[in-house]
Amino acid sequence: MTPKADESRSFAVAKKPPMPIRRTRSEQLHAEALKLFPGGVNSPVRAFRSVGGTPLFFVRGEGAEVVDADGNRFIDLCHSWGPLILGHAHPAVVEAITRTAAKGSTFGAPTEEENLLAAFVMERIPFVQRMRFVSSGTEAVMSAIRLARGATKRDLIIKFDGCYHGHFDSLLVNAGSGLATLGTSSSAGVPEALAQLTIVVPLNDEAALEAAFATYGDRIAGAIIEPVPANNGLLLQEHTFLRKLRTLCTAHGTVLIFDEVISGFRVGFAGSFCTNGIVPDLVTYGKIIGGGMPVGAYGGRADLMRHIAPEGPVYQAGTLSGNPVAMAAGLAQLTTCAQPGFYTELERRTRMLCDAVNTHARSKGHAYHIDHIGSIFWGFFARGEHIRSASGIDPASMRSYAKLHAALLERGVYAAPSGYEVGFLSAAHTHAHVEHVAAAWCDALDAVL
Ligand SMILES: *Cc1c(COP(=O)(O)O)cnc(C)c1O
Repeated sequence: MTPKADESRSFAVAKKPPMPIRRTRSEQLHAEALKLFPGGVNSPVRAFRSVGGTPLFFVRGEGAEVVDADGNRFIDLCHSWGPLILGHAHPAVVEAITRTAAKGSTFGAPTEEENLLAAFVMERIPFVQRMRFVSSGTEAVMSAIRLARGATKRDLIIKFDGCYHGHFDSLLVNAGSGLATLGTSSSAGVPEALAQLTIVVPLNDEAALEAAFATYGDRIAGAIIEPVPANNGLLLQEHTFLRKLRTLCTAHGTVLIFDEVISGFRVGFAGSFCTNGIVPDLVTYGKIIGGGMPVGAYGGRADLMRHIAPEGPVYQAGTLSGNPVAMAAGLAQLTTCAQPGFYTELERRTRMLCDAVNTHARSKGHAYHIDHIGSIFWGFFARGEHIRSASGIDPASMRSYAKLHAALLERGVYAAPSGYEVGFLSAAHTHAHVEHVAAAWCDALDAVL
């Protein structure tokens, strides 16, 4: 898609007055889905439980826009929760998928596509000295934790309250009471005995982190963090906190794992490294790396990765790992991302959106602010510029988010159906899209507040 064609495409939902959306077909499909899937969905947040109403069933994505089963058209700010940094159905990605699938979709044997995607990543992110492809972010995290435990021959791990790492048992854990505590499971089916191997520490709290290492130091196999926490609001961490974490891990022989499933190839090609320059021992990827196909990856220090089977004793495998169609989709997407100026332009448009809304909110005296990093943004109903820990989010504000979400739908904007979820701009969002979203957002805020 050339920028020119993109800019000139007519934008169907522009300048209509807000109006309730049609949901007849989505309601029918959801009723059928309820007989098929728990809650009618294959992943819980999709069910719209926290914003209310029937989930929309999508039939088509075109660049920055989606069309639902009732023919409503929206500017999409969710983009499948982050993977689609080029927008929906980008021609280069679609071409790579169809070309590769036509040659056979899976072999259970090595293909050159795996080498090409891995080499492309490793040439640009030098601390990834070896890597392994899996099929989801959850799987990448699970494997990296097993590797940290296997390589250090220790059992405990540290996670941070407010970070999400997928639905791996050891990380479905909440903080107990106190500053740095052994966890309690946050999901039925996770044994307490397993949860108690996870130490939960608040984000951006150096004292709590030091206390955890002082108490458990030489028993901690790994510490896992989203260096750009973006799954429970956007909780940007102070540089000094991440530095402290790096220093403590090194001092205690603890494997530092950066979970960059959401921030990798998003806040810059090399993820959080582009913003903080801190090198982890292991890193996990997902979302963008697969170009919209199911791919995860983990990698890092060669001496650690050598512990993975068949070179070492830590077992990890996958029938569809390194799937050639998914590899080709990922390579096509990352090739575009790696072009000069790609991330600068995305950030510029995101800043434009946030500045417009924040200026408006200030002028109206609304207690509302949108924070952003790169093309990730998150709005919260409070004064101030940043929230840095999970405890800083007021759960009661989610009622206001539900109203904002509905008001945005009526104005042709599809935001994530939960106030804890961030939004994304993609390269397919044109200047006109951003202007429309900014105007809709300001108008929706006025209606809600
Ligand atoms: C999305 C996400 C995961 C889980 O990835 P899935 O592909 O949904 O299993 C893990 N960690 C982070 C930081 C994520 O954003």
